Amino acid sequence: MQSLLFFFLENMALIIALMYLALKAKELLFPNLTESTLLLALSILFMGFLTFSVMYNPYIHEGMRLDLREVPLYFISYIGGWKVGILSAIFPSIYRYSLGGPTAIAGILQTVILPVIIGSLFRNKKTVNKFFAILDIKKMLLGLLVFEVLKSVSMLLTTPSTVPITLSMLFFAMVAVLAMGLIANGENHHILVRKELEFYSNQDPMTQLPNMRFFKNKTQTLVSQYVPIAIVMLDVDYFKTYNDTHGHQKGDAVLRSIGQLLRDHTRKKDYVARYGGEEFIFCITDPYDDNEVMRIAEKVRDQIEQYHFEGEELQPEGKLTVSMGVSLNSYHKTLDQLIDEADQALYQSKRDGRNRVTAFAEKKEKEVEEVFN
Ligand code: GH3
Ligand code: MG
Ligand code: MG
Repeated sequence: MQSLLFFFLENMALIIALMYLALKAKELLFPNLTESTLLLALSILFMGFLTFSVMYNPYIHEGMRLDLREVPLYFISYIGGWKVGILSAIFPSIYRYSLGGPTAIAGILQTVILPVIIGSLFRNKKTVNKFFAILDIKKMLLGLLVFEVLKSVSMLLTTPSTVPITLSMLFFAMVAVLAMGLIANGENHHILVRKELEFYSNQDPMTQLPNMRFFKNKTQTLVSQYVPIAIVMLDVDYFKTYNDTHGHQKGDAVLRSIGQLLRDHTRKKDYVARYGGEEFIFCITDPYDDNEVMRIAEKVRDQIEQYHFEGEELQPEGKLTVSMGVSLNSYHKTLDQLIDEADQALYQSKRDGRNRVTAFAEKKEKEVEEVFN
């Protein structure tokens, strides 16, 4: 009995340690929760190896090798289905076959193939992202119990195994699968919560555009790496009038549409964000020259002017428009300086009559300095 207890403890330590390391490796190699053929292949290799490891450490009773090979195979089939299970079972089956004995083929069918079949039958087939999903532990254990009861009956009828040994093996397998499920769920839960937090702390919930925190992080990196950028600020013209006429809900819909237009008419490498209120900001990354910056900004302004917003006829100019300010030449300027320049240029657009793009005029700053000197 003592050796049976040590058999259990050794196998549990092996399963828990390898499972933990494998999940940490998964988090490191697949940080974006993306499922790929590589992840599938690595999972199959890992489960094959884990099964082999537990087979290598059996409990010997009257010359009979008893082990927990069904644990990894059932577990991977419950997560990934029968194809993944069968592929994971190839290596352990070859190992079992190499050990020989009169019951080699029957052993492979009963203790390698059957857990794969039952695991995949109990699996939740609706799960899309199976390797990152939270497992239904109760259902998983129920499926395993079905397999273990079948196995126990067969063992008692056809082998010298005793009732205490058979029941102990059933209990060990249940505890081992439970441990694997709990570790996987713990790790996956932790990854999913972290991803969700990252997502919501970087997004403006109303427009679903990135927020300033995200924008500043990204653009600060560009500035630090001396990647040329231009900052464009944008403010809706007479938006108070729009809200007063149509209500805040319609006003919110306008802000969402502007967010979408900004996304549609900037390039992939440009960053767009909601600055706050009815103001937006975007960064034109590595522009060819100042003309390209002004062309992109002008296109955005024009697209917003052309877009039909509900009830815009009642705006002072008969349409809903935006004013924009641009800060060029990021070299040797801080991000805050660039944002401030774009803001000043935006207010110049407002003073000049709205619905226009103004570039921050550096000369003016110099002139002012000269006057003071
Ligand atoms: P201007 O052309 O000078 O920019 O005039 P304006 O009326 O747009 O400017 P002002 O700064 O006076 O008003 C901004 C308005 O934007 C006031 C506020 O009600 C509205 N606003 C700010 N944030 C939101 C929002 O999240 N939703 C809605 N619906 N309105 C908002
Ligand atoms: Mg404003
Ligand atoms: Mg405004």
